[in-house]
Amino acid sequence: MMVRAGFGYDSHRLVEGRPLMLGGIHVPHHLGSLGHSDADVVLHALCDALLGALALGDIGAHFPDTDPAYKDADSRKLMAAVVQLVHARGWKVANVDCTVVLERPKLRPHIDAMRGTIAGLLQVDADAVSVKASTNERMGFTGREEGVCAYTVALLERA
Ligand code: MG
Repeated sequence: MMVRAGFGYDSHRLVEGRPLMLGGIHVPHHLGSLGHSDADVVLHALCDALLGALALGDIGAHFPDTDPAYKDADSRKLMAAVVQLVHARGWKVANVDCTVVLERPKLRPHIDAMRGTIAGLLQVDADAVSVKASTNERMGFTGREEGVCAYTVALLERA
């Protein structure tokens, strides 16, 4: 088999007094995501998509949230470690697609910076990285601004 696909999902609660990190970018907002690490749902969902493509378990198994080493961890570092794992197994990233669900703020001004950061981590061109934003039309936990979530797919090809 020359290609493998993986899917990832993550969500975090939104609270005051925390930075809102999305796709490795700090997005200015009065609420931020709560978690053991920096709680970046985009990078976490992407890690799970990459691990999922190779059936290597999930991000929680590789970076336990009970481990003090990952307290406030920069998710870019977790992501770099997952990419290393993918490369070590003889695979490379073909493309990824991400959808962030967040009621506010508007993410459009930050999308290209996220794509650039993610592309750098994945070691691919920015045109292999899609980041899309959606609100949830005020429905559910994202609609009530209780949290933020992200869905991603990743396609790997033989290096
Ligand atoms: Mg997470």
